[in-house]
Amino acid sequence: MSKIVFISELASNEQQTWLAMLRAQLSNEDIFLPSELTDEAAKAVDIAIVANPDPAVVARFPNLVWIQSLWAGVERLLSADLSPNIKLVRLIDPTLAQSMAESVLTWTLYLQRNLPHYHLQQRQNQWRQLPNINSKNIRVSVLGAGELGLASLSLLGKLDYQLSCWTRTLKNIDNVSCYSGEQGLSDMLADTDILISLLPLTPSTQHLLNEDTLSQLPQGANVINFSRGGIVDTNGLLALLDIEHLSHAVLDVFDIEPLPQESELWQHPKITVLPHISAPTNNDSAVLIVADNIRHYRESGILPTVVDRKSGY
Ligand code: NAP
Repeated sequence: MSKIVFISELASNEQQTWLAMLRAQLSNEDIFLPSELTDEAAKAVDIAIVANPDPAVVARFPNLVWIQSLWAGVERLLSADLSPNIKLVRLIDPTLAQSMAESVLTWTLYLQRNLPHYHLQQRQNQWRQLPNINSKNIRVSVLGAGELGLASLSLLGKLDYQLSCWTRTLKNIDNVSCYSGEQGLSDMLADTDILISLLPLTPSTQHLLNEDTLSQLPQGANVINFSRGGIVDTNGLLALLDIEHLSHAVLDVFDIEPLPQESELWQHPKITVLPHISAPTNNDSAVLIVADNIRHYRESGILPTVVDRKSGY
């Protein structure tokens, strides 16, 4: 009988929690940790459920048909040398998208309502009222309008921001100015007060936000990166913050995580550092989605939507 393996680099207690939840939802399945399977037994594994796994461990299973990620981003697996025949399914979860939308709104309001400045002012015993700009006069642009981008645009739309988005294929979204392509990016950046990255990290988006592109934002603009650290070239960002072309950056994701202690980003007055918390996977909803995907596959042989390896997302 086919087996399922659960592969992660999570702490042992977290791993056991996931395993117990998966086993409870998929009681007809045999779900194992890699350490519980001999190389012979590993040949019977056709599905891997993974949470940011070490690709070398994934490669131990020669007959994998597909990999179900418990995370929404799968760039680490895509860059690994896995057989192209193995299909990759990332987590698509409305609960996670809602969580990201809430984070996007939270930190957009944080910037809109000058909280970074008030925080600094308090540290200097300074009582100074800054101008308050209404949301309808703020241009918020979202890079990427997939699962997370669309949910975020929808929530931001409730507060009347002037919304734009930039995607690979041109979209048509009510009350959102849509852009694509290099010129589209330049046009959108020139018209942006708060820029939010919700792009996957792929060869085309690596360091997309660099000194050149970020300098196309108007003076005083702000940047939020909630997708992957590699989208932003940190040196370019720092250069533009230091000359006051950009006002502030909220960063939830970094090239190296946890952000190294010695990083200058920690103490930078114009950077807010978050520990990758904008949209954590919700165990309860994720397990239900993964279990449904697997049950449906067992019954019909049909895989959920798979990642397009060519475009990298
Ligand atoms: P998605 O549904 O695959 O959407 C990706 C969006 O990016 C699509 O709109 C796509 O355009 C656009 N895109 C991709 N490559 C592009 C390019 N080269 N140029 C322009 N647009 C491009 O992904 P998602 O579920 O929204 O997730 C986005 C990313 O968020 C994930 O990959 C992950 O890295 C990150 N994430 C972060 C956290 C966190 O806690 N910080 C949590 C979950 C996910 P098209 O619509 O034209 O295809």
